[in-house]
Amino acid sequence: MANELQNKTFHNETKARQWLESHLWPDGPVCGHCGSINDATAIETRPGLYQCNATECRSQFTVTVGTLFERSHIPLNKWLMAAFLVCSSKKAMSALQMSRMLDISYKSTWFMMHRIREAMRDGTFPAPIGGPDKVIEADETYVGGKPRTEPTSQSHRNRSSCRLSSAAAKCARSMSKMQPQRRCAKPPLRPPAANHI
Ligand SMILES: [Zn+2]
Repeated sequence: MANELQNKTFHNETKARQWLESHLWPDGPVCGHCGSINDATAIETRPGLYQCNATECRSQFTVTVGTLFERSHIPLNKWLMAAFLVCSSKKAMSALQMSRMLDISYKSTWFMMHRIREAMRDGTFPAPIGGPDKVIEADETYVGGKPRTEPTSQSHRNRSSCRLSSAAAKCARSMSKMQPQRRCAKPPLRPPAANHI
């Protein structure tokens, strides 16, 4: 993931806009107001801004109109990196951590994450995903997981016997320490006195 974060799309606003346009507009600019395709004029004074040529529309639009990036002063490259981090983090990511990574305020990060999660929540997948007879690849997916292995009755018995044998060994060691004391406690055997013979 470290190499992915070095992608210029995440560090250059123009690259980010061009990347989004190439993905959302493969057939040319699409007016976010009337939906006309490839019927717009680029406005030279501001890169990424288009004027719709449809007679009944004539609106200006950018690629972010109608997306979760609309009407935001946060640079588009930061938006894309935030979306990437949210989607690629298996165990989620806090707004505070993302704020540090993107070098923007916590308030702005919280706003971005709220929009990203909202966009993810509302998504509905047409069946089948990707279209008929298409191959879908999903990397870095974390779905549920198996519970840890429950101890079987056999392994439980083995552990019990281990504990018992361990206790027995301790007991044996204690006994071996006690033996000399017991021997010392007995009266020592002395040879009989001469007058007893
Ligand atoms: Zn239009």
